[in-house]
Amino acid sequence: MPDTNTRENERGLRTPIVAVLGHVDHGKTSLLDKIRGSTVIEGEAGAITQHIGATAIPLDVVSKVAGSLIDPSDFDLPGLLFIDTPGHHSFTTLRSRGGALADIAILVVDVNDGFQPQTLEAINILKQSQTPFVVAANKIDTIPGWKPNEDAPVQQTKEAQSDRVQSALDEQLYEIIGELSDEGFSADMYWRVQDFRGNIGVVPVSAETGEGVPDLLTVLMGLAQRYMKEDMAIDVTGPGAGTVLEVKEEKGFGTTLDVVLYDGTIREDETIVVGGLDDPIVTDVRAILKPRPLAEIRTEDRFEKVDEIAAASGVKIAAPDLDDAMAGAPVRVVRDRDIEEVITEVRAELSEIEVETQEQGVVVKADTLGSLEAIANAMDEAEIPIMRAEVGDVAPRDISVASTASEDTHKTILAFNVDVLADAEKQAEDSDVKLFESGVIYRLIEEYEEYVEELERAQQ
Ligand code: GDP
Repeated sequence: MPDTNTRENERGLRTPIVAVLGHVDHGKTSLLDKIRGSTVIEGEAGAITQHIGATAIPLDVVSKVAGSLIDPSDFDLPGLLFIDTPGHHSFTTLRSRGGALADIAILVVDVNDGFQPQTLEAINILKQSQTPFVVAANKIDTIPGWKPNEDAPVQQTKEAQSDRVQSALDEQLYEIIGELSDEGFSADMYWRVQDFRGNIGVVPVSAETGEGVPDLLTVLMGLAQRYMKEDMAIDVTGPGAGTVLEVKEEKGFGTTLDVVLYDGTIREDETIVVGGLDDPIVTDVRAILKPRPLAEIRTEDRFEKVDEIAAASGVKIAAPDLDDAMAGAPVRVVRDRDIEEVITEVRAELSEIEVETQEQGVVVKADTLGSLEAIANAMDEAEIPIMRAEVGDVAPRDISVASTASEDTHKTILAFNVDVLADAEKQAEDSDVKLFESGVIYRLIEEYEEYVEELERAQQ
């Protein structure tokens, strides 16, 4: 019996994939937890399907949470699939053919804090990937004097506030709308928007109390329905296409891939092609695994095997020879196609992400292809030349390469979310190579620029 996991309907529309982005501490994780929590409470037991790296919320559960805001018969979509790891790091890592893996996004902005560097970074990434998004203006419950109204639609909770609190909220929201407009978007508050044409919906929410979560889900469904219809019609029997979320050792299975499947199906024993560090890997699927329902989990036995799974879903794939697979790389099922053609397709997709390098410049190491690309874009904007850009930990040979850089490119390595191998650290000290490490792109660039300025001042 095939496990389709997320229901398709007669029109073959798959579940839209939703990512959550925003500045650190603005409430991305809390909001995801709240959405999952509210839907778990509302939904019947087992209504929420846990995936690897993602959570599927079917339309009937979405509509229960949204209450009177949604008429489920208005929607053709089966529900929403939320990527569990928030942040633009995972967003950029998760690519699909020619773009972002996520179909739509939630940009979380703390109402008190407004736009911050990572908010802008996220907006740039959303612009580049042309991903439609909704702004969740989060933490409305922290506005002084706020009277919480758990899990209520925001219009209702707003009307229950004093005039002073209402205007304080409006003021914060207008600020966000102004900042969106500085970024070239026209936006309006959700309750004033009759349709979303050209407008970004700004939805006031609280991840703490759940206020506005019904509205947020409603706007997301509307957004998905509006923008994604054609793209989301899938041939549910076609050969699967997905993206590697993580490459992981799993006891009893060896090296496995956590994959988000965005198209078609994947079956046990099928041949797949996976993007690898050097060349595409061709291997046969030994097992397709998904998490057991929470109630059934015994220690050591967290997964159950399925024969087949359809998009959109998150699964674990066990197969031989996966050691060189890369997070962010494509996965393709070969099925009845010519294997060479599929290999060429995977290569082509990987080369899309290749970073243009120059004779002289900085060495960049990052944990995934997507993050490498995001850094390269940011460096391009900051006019910092790149000499070498690769996925992986900082190794001695990277130091050797960086140490050949000319004086004016400053012998530097920018390391994003990767380890520095012990030998490399020592070698960097010995050869005057400067290493910058961070998990935040703008910080890496800022630190580099400050360092360069310092050197230039010292030379004067
Ligand atoms: P992330 O870094 O964007 O994932 O942010 P977190 O979800 O970890 O939230 C950062 C902090 O803000 C945590 O202490 C949360 O409890 C708190 N927080 C998040 N959302 C809300 C909210 O809506 N209201 C209040 N009062 N606190 C919130």
